[in-house]
Amino acid sequence: MKKFAIFDLDDTLVDSTGAIDRWFVELTEQRGLGPDGLEFLRNEQQRPVSPAETFRAIVDRFGFPESPAELRRLFWERWPRLVRTFDGVPEQLRALREHGWLLALLTNGREDQQRPKMRDGLADLFDAVCFADDEVVSKPHPDVFRLVARRAATGLEGAWMVGDSLEHDVAGAAPLGMSTIWVSQGSALPAGVPVPDRIVETVADAFPLLMSTMA
Ligand SMILES: [Mg+2]
Repeated sequence: MKKFAIFDLDDTLVDSTGAIDRWFVELTEQRGLGPDGLEFLRNEQQRPVSPAETFRAIVDRFGFPESPAELRRLFWERWPRLVRTFDGVPEQLRALREHGWLLALLTNGREDQQRPKMRDGLADLFDAVCFADDEVVSKPHPDVFRLVARRAATGLEGAWMVGDSLEHDVAGAAPLGMSTIWVSQGSALPAGVPVPDRIVETVADAFPLLMSTMA
């Protein structure tokens, strides 16, 4: 049977968090919010509150004419277009395919939100794609992993999951007999979470690791 790897999208293959900061910078320039304004936006992003509360705080702070919901909609329109593919990702995915791997993309989120983030030919590099928020269940539910395997016409036993979320990617895949690679982005592994089989700092380090499993 062919080797099979499932990849997460946000902050695994593309820099979704970096794109939030680019939107803050854009907003600051467009509306003349100044360095203090930019700092406020960045602090808001760190605050552990709901998105609704964050957008309300931003609207209140700057006295924007939009409602919080309208500002949130503007963000959602613009953010996916500011997302960038991490260096080397399309080339490395192509190399895996050339070595006979089956590849799938499994992302929470809806297709209309996620598809615009798949540039640089990403959309053509997968045997199966699943936008889980358009399905009955999303990660970490086991059924959505099984669904994406079915779409790729393969099974999950011995397959690999690569993702930055311990909760969605690692915890979802491990009980299904998959091996897991956690893309840590430099974070330490917190206590009390499912331990990934491998830890890499960026996705660039995951590709040679996958390739080495063929030996
Ligand atoms: Mg992610």
